[in-house]
Formats: sequence, C-alpha cells, structure tokens
Amino acid sequence: MRKVIRGTVDFFKILIYCVQLLWTTSKKYFLIRIILNIVSLAAPFAVISLTRSLINLLARNSSATSMPGTAMQAFLAVSLLLLGSNIINQASETASTYFAGLHRETMDTTMKHLIMEKAAQLDLSFFDSAAFYNEVSDASRNSPLITNSAFQAMNLIRYLVQFIIAFAYLFQFSLILPFVFVASVIPSTVTQIKQVEAIYGFQRQFMSEERKMQYAADVLLSREFAKDVRIYNIFPFISKKFLGIWDILFSKKRAISLRYTKLLLLLSALPEIIAAAFLFLLGLSVIRGAHTIGDYSFLQGIMTQILGSMYAIISSYTQLADGKMRIQNYKKFLGFVSNVRTDGTLELTKPFFKVEFRNVSFRYSENLPFVLKDVNFSFDSRQKIALVGANGSGKTTIIKLLLRFYDPAEGQILLDGIDIREYKPDSVRRRFSTVFQDYSNYAFTVRESVSLSDVSQANDQERIMDSLKQSGADSFTARFPMGLDTYLTRRYDDSGQELSGGQWQKMAIARAFFRKADIYILDEPSASLDAQSEDEVFRMFQAMYAGKGAVLISHRLSNIHLSDLILVLDNGSLAEIGSHGELMAANGTYAHMYRLQADKYSQAQ
Ligand code: ADP
Repeated sequence: MRKVIRGTVDFFKILIYCVQLLWTTSKKYFLIRIILNIVSLAAPFAVISLTRSLINLLARNSSATSMPGTAMQAFLAVSLLLLGSNIINQASETASTYFAGLHRETMDTTMKHLIMEKAAQLDLSFFDSAAFYNEVSDASRNSPLITNSAFQAMNLIRYLVQFIIAFAYLFQFSLILPFVFVASVIPSTVTQIKQVEAIYGFQRQFMSEERKMQYAADVLLSREFAKDVRIYNIFPFISKKFLGIWDILFSKKRAISLRYTKLLLLLSALPEIIAAAFLFLLGLSVIRGAHTIGDYSFLQGIMTQILGSMYAIISSYTQLADGKMRIQNYKKFLGFVSNVRTDGTLELTKPFFKVEFRNVSFRYSENLPFVLKDVNFSFDSRQKIALVGANGSGKTTIIKLLLRFYDPAEGQILLDGIDIREYKPDSVRRRFSTVFQDYSNYAFTVRESVSLSDVSQANDQERIMDSLKQSGADSFTARFPMGLDTYLTRRYDDSGQELSGGQWQKMAIARAFFRKADIYILDEPSASLDAQSEDEVFRMFQAMYAGKGAVLISHRLSNIHLSDLILVLDNGSLAEIGSHGELMAANGTYAHMYRLQADKYSQAQ
C-alpha cells in the first residue's frame, strides 16, 4: 500500500514537473495550447448534444407530411449550430497540431541546451567516469522522449477532464455502468505500465552495451578512425561487435514485449465487450419505447467519448509513467553538482601573485592510487617554472589542479596565502593561458579558432594576426584563400582547409597567445612539432612571457635550463627543486638526466 501511495505521489510530482517544463519553455505556446485544448474538449460534447436534438426533432416529425414552421426553424438552427461546432472542432485540432509542433521543437532544444550547459559546468572528474557518460547519453537520448512525456501530461489532463464530463453524463443514466467501465480498463492499464517499466529497466541495465554499439558506429562513421578502418580493414570486426550486441539486446527486448503484448491482446477486449453489451441493451430499450433514438445516438456518442478518453488516458499515463523514470534521471543529471568547490567568492584581480602547493596529495578517484604525494613548492607568478619527470610522474596533474579542474584530496594550493578554493574558479583560470598536450582542434574559422581563448576580443584582427605570427601558424594561414574566415577542416565547408598535426598545434598555441594572461603554460609541445618549430615556439614563448610567468613541461632539458625554478617529479613526489645551477651542483636525478641528454647532443654533432 505504501508503495502505491509513494508511486502515486511520485507520479503527481512528475506531472507537475512536466507542466512546469511546458510552461517555462514557452509561456506563449503553453497558454495558446491550453485555450485550444478547452475548445477541443467542449466541441465534441456540443456535437453529441446537438445531434441528439436533431435526431429527436427528425424522429418527432418523420411521419408528418410537412414540418411545422417552428420545427423547421429549430431544425435549421440546430443544423447550423452543428455545422459551427464541427468546424470549430476541426479548426482547433488543426491549430493544436501546429502549435504543438512549435512548442515541441522549442522544448526539445531547450532541454538539449540544459544538458549541454550542465555538462559544461561540471568538473573534469565527471568526464573520467563511465557512469557519467551513461547519464549523459541517457539524458540526451531521452530528451525528445521527455518532451513527449511532458506533452502527454497535457493530454492526460485534457482527457481526464473529457472523461469526467462523459462519466457525469453516463452517471445520470446509470449509477454503476461508469464504474464498470473504469474497472474494465484497469487490468490492461496495469499491464501496459508494467511493460513500460520492464523495458526501461532493461534499457538502463544494458546501457553500457548500447554505448558500445554507439561507439562501434562512431568508429565507422567518424573521420578520426577512417584511415585505420581502411588500412586494417576493421569493418568486419566492428560490424560483428555491433550486430552481436544488437542481437542479444533485441532478443531480450522482444521477449519482454511479446510477454506483455499477449496479455494485452486479451485484456483490451474487455471494455469493448462491455460497451457492446450496453449498446445492445440500450437498443432493446429503444425498441420497447423506453428511450428515444436521440437518446441512443447521444449515449453512443458519450460511450465513444468515454472509451476514447479512457484509451487516451491509458496511453498518456503509460507514456508519462515511462517518462517518469527518464524524467527522474534527467532531473538527477541536472542536479549533479561539481566535486570541485565552486562557492568561492574572491576575485583574483592582481596580475602578480604567489602560488604555493602545501602538502598537496591527489588521486583521480577514491579507488585509484595517489598520483601526487605530499607535494610542497611555491613560486612567484612572474617566474619561469619548468616541470620535468618521466611520463606519468604527475606534471600535467599539477597544472590541472592549478586550473581548478580538480581539487586536492589533501593539502592546499594557495594564491597569495589564500586557499585557491576561496576564489571564483573563473577568476583564477582567467590568469592563465594553457596549451595542453591533448589540445583541441576546432572545426571553426581561423578567426574563431584563435579568438576562442578570449571571445570578447574576437574583433581584434590585429591581435589575431599577431598570435598567428607568434605561434608560426601564419606560415600556412597566410596562404588560405579566405584568410581568417577560412574554415578549418572540410567538415562543414568544402572550401575548408585540412591541417597537419604540427599545424594544429600551432593553431592551439596561437589561441594561447591570443589570451592576455599572467602565466602561460605549455605542456610538452614537442609531441607533434618538428625540432625547428619547437625551437621557434620556445623562442616565441620566451618573448611572450618577458615580464610574465610561464610554466613549461618538456622532456628536452635544453629548452628549460634557463628557467628560474625547475621541479623534478618522480612518481608523484617532488624529488628535487632549484635552479639549473643548483640542481647540477646537487648532482642528483636532474644533473644525471641533463648530462645524458647533453651527451646525446654532442654525440649527434
Ligand atoms: P605526466 O604529465 O607527468 O605525464 P600525469 O599528471 O598526466 O603525468 O599523470 C599522472 C598519473 O595520473 C598517471 O599515472 C596517469 O595515468 C594518471 N592519470 C592522469 N589522468 C587521469 C585520469 N583522468 N584518471 C585517472 N588517472 C589519471
């Protein structure tokens, strides 16, 4: 019993949420549709009542050779009213369809936008987790279905009112008949709801399998994998995976559907049998003279309304019940809160500040090992810092913590002695300009691609040109026929330009230069740059950050030996810290690495 009550309460909460969604996405369409719904609701009853009057009028006068004048007038008036009601009925349905289409599109887009907005607000740790991807794909896949559910909420209310009116009419005729009708649809309603629950439960359970199918499709359809698909002839392998998963899922889904469909076939006959029996008895009563032919037509119309509205209620209800779980998950998704604290209120307005890592330890999740262990260091924002260490030693993680992608598990990062969490994350990030190793390539124009790092300055053509020059990207963008308005990649534009790995990196570096920051961060740029380009980038960086701060991550120690402070990381711990001279004198890991590289260079020469 408690379960039923909780289920009903949940259902009404969802109903209210749906109405709120409909209202907030477009107040105008919502109100217009409410008015049209009221008209659509009233019109059929007007038609039924008028038809009864018309038939009774005709029956009374059917044997007379000519109709008396008053009856003729009444006949004409009722006929015209009937025509008017029918026209209004049709017109309101047509207008409803039109406005529902507009409302649906508006709502669909609003919901997708909310999902995008939420995903952009959440911190990076969400993107590390498979469970989050499940939620994202569930929310975006379900957003049209949720729109549908919200529409069903409106339908449900409309048909409920229609049912109550029809029920009241029928109740005047028979006290128990309306209840018998209602009882007759309960079994099929319950079955349909159970079917919907079973299918959605199944979908949630096998969501990661469905994502694997989607991934297989992405591999075959995306440009990123197009080369591999051909050189390794991967299609048969991927296709087997795709169809293999589908086969299993489909047979399970079919079994569930079949089980419920068999039951529904039996149960849905029940209300029809009752309606037919009632009309048969009513027909006998007309023959006996207890009811008029107009009554028969009227009650038949009411029955049609009752049956029609009951079916519509069941359909709306089950779709809403189906949507209930989706909406609950959608609400859950929108309710996710960042693990990174975002309630800081301080603004970092000073261009020069002190950065301090104090006993910082960090791991990417509770069940993973620590990747930074009790790290301590500090530097001035105007200094040039270098991070060195083997792959996986935690260099990039330090940058990610500094940029508030994550918060430390233990210890503190302090800016001018204040915990970084006390600042607004955006106000901290604004002070930095970063090129990560896995920088992003945008299928935008050159102008957009560069100015993304500070969109408020997108019209500053000179600054865009300067940034392209500083990164060396002007060597190829200068040749583009459409100049700064040339699209990168041919994804959206046939005249777009494709770039090589190194060229993409120069675009990313131009983007970093475009932003006026206090500290420039360059994470391992040598991955896709040739030696000469890398040299140029480093020289540009030196020029750029004259008077500014820089954090460099590089394996080529020749690039960093001029840094003010070199941090040597070893498996998440700070092994050494100091200037090049100090570290060479200490004769530790850094000195060893440096001599090894210097030897290689001298041998090569
Ligand atoms: P480096 O920049 O020195 O190469 P990173 O800071 O990128 O090293 O990585 C440090 C360690 O953290 C590595 O063992 C890496 O596998 C792990 N790691 C990096 N990113 C993630 C992540 N998103 N989730 C889990 N582990 C991660």
